[in-house]
Amino acid sequence: MVKDLNITIKRLIWRRLREGKRFKHIFSCIQEIDRFSKEEIRRLQLETLKEIIRHSYSSVPYYRRLFDSIGLSVNGRFNFEDIAKIPFLTKDEIARNTHDFISSHSKKAFLKKTASSGTTGRPVVLYRDLYSINFENAILWKQRSWAGIKHGDKKATIRGEFVVDGSKNKPPFWKIDWLGKELILSSYHISSKNVRYYLEILKNFRPHYIEAYPSSLYLLARFIKDLGLESVPVKAAITSSEMIEDYKKALIEDVFRCKVYDFYGNAERVSAIATCPAGNYHILPEYGFTELIDLKEDKYNKELTGTSFINMSMPLIRYRTGDMVVPSPGQCECGRQSQVVQSIIGRLDDIIVTPEGRYIPVIDSILDRDFYDIVEIQFIQEDHCSIRVRLVPGRDFGNSDRNKLISKLSERIGSNMKIYVEEVDSIERAKNGKYRTVISNIKRKEYE
Ligand SMILES: [Zn+2]
Repeated sequence: MVKDLNITIKRLIWRRLREGKRFKHIFSCIQEIDRFSKEEIRRLQLETLKEIIRHSYSSVPYYRRLFDSIGLSVNGRFNFEDIAKIPFLTKDEIARNTHDFISSHSKKAFLKKTASSGTTGRPVVLYRDLYSINFENAILWKQRSWAGIKHGDKKATIRGEFVVDGSKNKPPFWKIDWLGKELILSSYHISSKNVRYYLEILKNFRPHYIEAYPSSLYLLARFIKDLGLESVPVKAAITSSEMIEDYKKALIEDVFRCKVYDFYGNAERVSAIATCPAGNYHILPEYGFTELIDLKEDKYNKELTGTSFINMSMPLIRYRTGDMVVPSPGQCECGRQSQVVQSIIGRLDDIIVTPEGRYIPVIDSILDRDFYDIVEIQFIQEDHCSIRVRLVPGRDFGNSDRNKLISKLSERIGSNMKIYVEEVDSIERAKNGKYRTVISNIKRKEYE
């Protein structure tokens, strides 16, 4: 009992810190940016960049050394061309110099330590200040407000949180956070057997919106549809943390009778992308300076690189996220002038590379309605010559589906790669509960 009370008080304090006065102030300020002209956005970004560069030079050891070595002047005129003189920053570089990235102006005792997974498996330690935490929260609320969500609306969450033990086979597979008006559902117990329990609690709780990993919500929608069950309509579904393919989005929208708003962010907090009411992805200019850089072998996709505007305690400049997007030359009909991207492809490391060096992104987009009998699928590449497909078959999945899958896949990747198909009962999630569509163990040159 005492332990529970303690947790509750901690949560209360955390919520107050995250959603206190400063959060409200930031949230109201960033609404204005939606009405900025292109020129105003440019000015906002340039002025903020100048501030970050000067701050980094004066208080961050790593940047003082770097700017001196490349002869970057921080006090004279500074333009967008000048930022291009700064070399790109990689995850490994942060891991090697972690403490040299911390600003001497920051109050170390108040920094929140966190970690993101490194390319070599070694986690990269990151530090955030309270302003950054408040800003991040304001940005999440911006996405919610674009989706029509209001403070006080009830939320159901399916985001890989550990709710109950994985071996538990009886409900509840959820918990209710009475403070946050939140129903937290397990991502690890969704099955055709348990879907009725999930629906029952959703019907009782009546959430206004759902926040989820796309894979978890898709799976739930899939079972509801397959079993012909009556769903629970919500105002919106906000997805993030994994890529979402069109067919998954369509099914979720159909089953929960809502629109899906996909949000992109990264642990390093250098760039954020939100979905507007017109259904397009907008790069948020108040969050960071985002550059879409060319890839050596790939003419179509770009790598997302960002300079964070929100964490002065550990500034990251021109950080390569390793995430790929397809840029859009167009303008959005919603009227917001910020840059639009057509789609978010996902991790650069999670791409199939053919023996000829071709890049095949979002490989499961080949799964159209012809393959409705595949519940989940994962592509694993261990070497250049073969690809292993692991799939959870639906009730009517048979040999002809298997052959059709192999032939469709061959069309994409060519005949030089062998394809092995393996039927499994379920696809394991990563430690954080995330689902990975493509796992590539091929070492890529630009990350060596
Ligand atoms: Zn828009």
